[in-house]
Amino acid sequence: MAFDTLSDRLQGAFKNLGRKGKVSPEDVEAALKEVRLALLEADVNYLVVKAFMKTIREKALGEDVLKSLTPAQQVIKVVSDELQHLMGDENVPLNRAAMGATTIMMVGLQGSGKTTLTGKLALYIQKKLDGKPFMIAADVYRPAAIDQLHTLGNQLGVTVYSEGTDKNPVDIVRNGVAKAKSEGYTHILIDTAGRLHIDETLMDELIAIKEVAQPNEIMLVADSMTGQDAVNVAIHFHDDLKVTGATLTKLDGDARGGAALSIRQMTGVPIKFVGTGEKLDGLEVFYPERMAQRILG
Ligand code: GDP
Repeated sequence: MAFDTLSDRLQGAFKNLGRKGKVSPEDVEAALKEVRLALLEADVNYLVVKAFMKTIREKALGEDVLKSLTPAQQVIKVVSDELQHLMGDENVPLNRAAMGATTIMMVGLQGSGKTTLTGKLALYIQKKLDGKPFMIAADVYRPAAIDQLHTLGNQLGVTVYSEGTDKNPVDIVRNGVAKAKSEGYTHILIDTAGRLHIDETLMDELIAIKEVAQPNEIMLVADSMTGQDAVNVAIHFHDDLKVTGATLTKLDGDARGGAALSIRQMTGVPIKFVGTGEKLDGLEVFYPERMAQRILG
């Protein structure tokens, strides 16, 4: 599971502290040094680490912590609270349309998990929001993506709109959105194309799709296994598209956690969901508090 190494390292950092009844500023400094190394090794962006360390140092070395009856626990609480803060404090729910269907557009690199997330969100909308989702296959460059979405649609009993691979994706989206709106669906999920790397032609296409679809949510799908690259991709997509939410996929793997801990600070974009498996039920709503607790064990 993601964060295992980070969890071990952080717990190790506090072990010595926990054995002492009294804690000196030097003890805290030594523990914080370990925390810093653990975060850097987890591939958290160094600017994020720097700001994080400044805050926790001020708080953890405060009189109220050192003179408390349980200084070790207080230091851990400071770190836990700041980890939560780093990830956005509170869960930010999916955006929704003030009226009519809510449109969600997936964006991200190829292989990040967009098509899978489209299916997972359809299931989430059916089960948790009691909605009637509609999926649009706009990834015309990867024929398998269209088949994959149809397979997911069949499994879920969800309508999939596609026009094959030789049509312009912007037209496909325009037609699909019109159909979904006229037929009373509650959520329109658009699976877009990704490339292996960001390229301007693709970005222009996504901007054009955004224009015609006017999505309520532009969901950046980022592969947590790619660490800092996921953060750089997020920055780029956000610059061009004004992303409104992020889903970090493959958190069931051995991702070191850097992406989860850096994306919010580096982009301001809230993480709304995490992907925890290849199957359709491998989706969790992202709660910063629970994630911070999971990391600190
Ligand atoms: P796309 O190119 O962005 O549409 O990516 P896909 O949805 O096709 O996903 C790429 C690969 O990642 C597939 O093999 C998926 O099964 C896998 N995948 C997607 N999300 C997750 C996840 O949360 N956990 C794991 N373990 N695999 C995932």
